[in-house]
Amino acid sequence: MSALDKYEPVIGLEVHAQLKTKTKLFCSCANEFGQTPNTNVCPVCLGMPGVLPVLNEQSLQLAIKAALALDCTVNEYSKFDRKQYFYPDLPKNYQISQYDQPLAVNGKLSLPDGSTVRIHRIHMEEDAGKLVHAGAERLHGSAYSLVDVNRSGTPLVEIVSEADIRSSEQARLYVQELRLILLYCGVCDGNLEEGSMRCDVNVSLRLKGTEKFGTRAEIKNVNSFRSIQRAIEYEIERQADLLDAGQKIVQETRLWEENKGCTISMRSKEEANDYRYFPEPDLRPIILDPAELKAIKLNLPKLPAEKREIYLQEYKLNSEEAYILVEDLERGEYFDQTVKLTNSPKKTASLINNAVYAILNESKKSIADTRLTPERLAKLIKIIEDGVVNDSTARNDLLPELFETEIDPLELCEKKGLKQISDESAISSEIEGIVKDFPEQFAELKSGKDKMKAFFVGQAMKKFKGKASPNIINKILDELVQKA
Ligand code: ADP
Ligand code: MG
Ligand code: ZN
Repeated sequence: MSALDKYEPVIGLEVHAQLKTKTKLFCSCANEFGQTPNTNVCPVCLGMPGVLPVLNEQSLQLAIKAALALDCTVNEYSKFDRKQYFYPDLPKNYQISQYDQPLAVNGKLSLPDGSTVRIHRIHMEEDAGKLVHAGAERLHGSAYSLVDVNRSGTPLVEIVSEADIRSSEQARLYVQELRLILLYCGVCDGNLEEGSMRCDVNVSLRLKGTEKFGTRAEIKNVNSFRSIQRAIEYEIERQADLLDAGQKIVQETRLWEENKGCTISMRSKEEANDYRYFPEPDLRPIILDPAELKAIKLNLPKLPAEKREIYLQEYKLNSEEAYILVEDLERGEYFDQTVKLTNSPKKTASLINNAVYAILNESKKSIADTRLTPERLAKLIKIIEDGVVNDSTARNDLLPELFETEIDPLELCEKKGLKQISDESAISSEIEGIVKDFPEQFAELKSGKDKMKAFFVGQAMKKFKGKASPNIINKILDELVQKA
């Protein structure tokens, strides 16, 4: 019997997302990743005595956007608090965070699978520095550790979900959708590998059919979609084994070991009172105007769920096409701009996904580096739709050049002599000739073997060097079959 037959997992996530600001949360150091260690610092983020923090207005705006995009109530009054603890990556020995009066509460996030996860709270805080452990992945077992304070003072929002998640798969979906929302709002760059989004996973088990939550373990260091799922799956098995053996779960903080694929105990769970929270005396409380909040909410961009809905319901794209266009922001934006200029969402999506991006991926370029503006792609689509050029000629013989030059698609088509042949009588007489040349194949087509149709279309295309209208070829073939 598997653990999931007997127990139901209860999961809540705490996601830290770095805000995409120019400067840090309380000082004017750049908010940038990947600089020489300990060069991007100043007395404020180094925690020198006597310095004063000043709140970065842009970070507040971004945090509010995130909160509103997640349907939270943004508090008109919130404040900062000091969370005291010692660790070598924390020069001040306290972190400026928000404790009992956070920026926002009571939100929700709807997932593509139809489920909803409630958001408990969102608060702002500063990031700590980073320890680099020599010769090991973590402190334990390393010969020595280096401190890099560049990251300290980076603005974060911590987004805490309710324990509404019931499977490892749903947890992954939640983080993926959250990432997309933050990306769409320009709040966070969503770069998990660089640590722009970091996730703590809380997992407990309860017997199926019971209400009361079990004791949870909090797992840190889960930093990819895959490891979120793996860590939860491991933790479910570990806790189920303990419970089956009649043992108790210890409430503790555990570390996900990516290489070994397991979680290990890190420390017993700290309580809020361990941190000696108190109000930050050097910062004023955050007081917000409800009218301003309303305006920010109204100005939020279209969110992924809304886009998915439009693509599927209004544009009738299939779910794979919609998925790709929602997932890849640049591609989605390019599609939106192009589709506004054409009347054919399906053709536009197919051309962008199958032809345009195939060429881009091969050349490792982004669409902005090419000359294929939405306007020019729309023109290409128009001449395909008007029957001036057929689809495969457009993809194979026109598109590559449209990336490189400014030439008008129609002009290029004429210049290369690729205009589609739509002269029905010319096509018809060629096909009649082909039918005579291949009597056996034609007999098969007549007897209902539809596969033979492709053969005749191919033969006809050969005669016209690929330029004949496939619609007309098909129409004439159908007529011949019926007549015969
Ligand atoms: P902290 O970890 O800072 O003590 P909370 O008590 O607010 O904070 O809980 C953090 C996260 O743990 C939340 O996402 C919450 O939903 C989740 N959580 C709380 N209790 C449980 C539980 N018994 N099982 C699983 N997740 C839980
Ligand atoms: Mg926690
Ligand atoms: Zn600084």
